[in-house]
Amino acid sequence: MRRRPPAVVRAVIMTLVLAAACSGGATTAPTADAPTTSEPPSPAPSTTGPIAATLPSTTATTGEAAPAAPPAPTTTLVTPPTTVAGTTPVFLTVFSHNERTASRYDAYATDPAGYAVWRAALLDVARLLHERGVRYSWQTDYLMVDAIERFEADALAADPGPTDAKPLITYLVEDLGVSVEPHAHECIDPPRVGDCTREPYDYADVVARITEVTGVVPAPVIGGTSEAERSLEEFAACIPGNVTDKPWCPTILTGFAGTRGGHATDDHHSGVWRPSGFGAEDFLVDDPSGRIANVGRGYSLGAFSSFGGAEVDPLTFITDLADRLADGRAPAGRMYTATLNFNEDALIERDLLDDIAAVLDALQPLVDEGRVIYANFPEVIAAWEHHYGAEPNIFAYEP
Ligand SMILES: [Zn+2]
Repeated sequence: MRRRPPAVVRAVIMTLVLAAACSGGATTAPTADAPTTSEPPSPAPSTTGPIAATLPSTTATTGEAAPAAPPAPTTTLVTPPTTVAGTTPVFLTVFSHNERTASRYDAYATDPAGYAVWRAALLDVARLLHERGVRYSWQTDYLMVDAIERFEADALAADPGPTDAKPLITYLVEDLGVSVEPHAHECIDPPRVGDCTREPYDYADVVARITEVTGVVPAPVIGGTSEAERSLEEFAACIPGNVTDKPWCPTILTGFAGTRGGHATDDHHSGVWRPSGFGAEDFLVDDPSGRIANVGRGYSLGAFSSFGGAEVDPLTFITDLADRLADGRAPAGRMYTATLNFNEDALIERDLLDDIAAVLDALQPLVDEGRVIYANFPEVIAAWEHHYGAEPNIFAYEP
């Protein structure tokens, strides 16, 4: 049986969790000027599926000269979800974060018992999402990757049944269709902004750690950032590691937290486009030659339990957007997106599994009609290219 605190207590707790939740978390100085690298070539457009989403090469750059262009990408095939003829759907991504914040994740990352709790919870939610047809984007920072390295082999040996004798992340990917993606409160050094408390890892380092520890190359997805952390130009030119010698070349932006990080300046547009920059004046201008496509987050916070307090309830946003698309109040034939997210510590400590199930129940009629389509972030981009010819849509939802 699951035990849960009373609703009022949960509301207070979740308000605190919201304050601590994060997609981009810079709290200090803005980044240095963007490097003056040459403009990288834009990827060739694709018009037929399956679509190849570019992945960074995992081969270290050789030679002494600094690379003038991003390393040649390897490709992985991502299948664009099918749509129902005559319907303009909302592509919905459910994603989660864990953090490098020791006060929140050391309980799960530093001893085998805590790790077992986290592992069981992640399996529970990944199974629930998989059973409902949700294409889960799991976005991870390095603390739990360190924990996997430390404790997974023993956890698997002690109880191989739940993962069919596979390591946890292998099972998530192979059996439950999870997309592994990095989430990093980057240590950006210089000028040393972000969270450098325990390890000096930036996005490239987190990607290298995920690959090294799990054997899974994460999708080229930026799992949260803000103008205060990095410039678009830096991402487009590939991120050099602080530790790894493998640059990381993302092509998909998610969880854009606006100018400041935290959640006070989150962008709430729906759709996919290639931002011209991360500033207030150019984020909402599509650059057809842009290397990085943004997945509009819509209203992602506050869907589960009483977690939230945003001005627009996420479930209301999704259902209302679907209704507007059905009756013509929103223009049809364009790419629409929405996201829902939870924090892994909240999933465990606030016991959110039933709340997540309730939200999925509420969405099921729209899913059955093809008006809401579950897709992980790479699949969203594949759908945008395949179904909409990579035409930008920057949709401002007015409640
Ligand atoms: Zn975060």
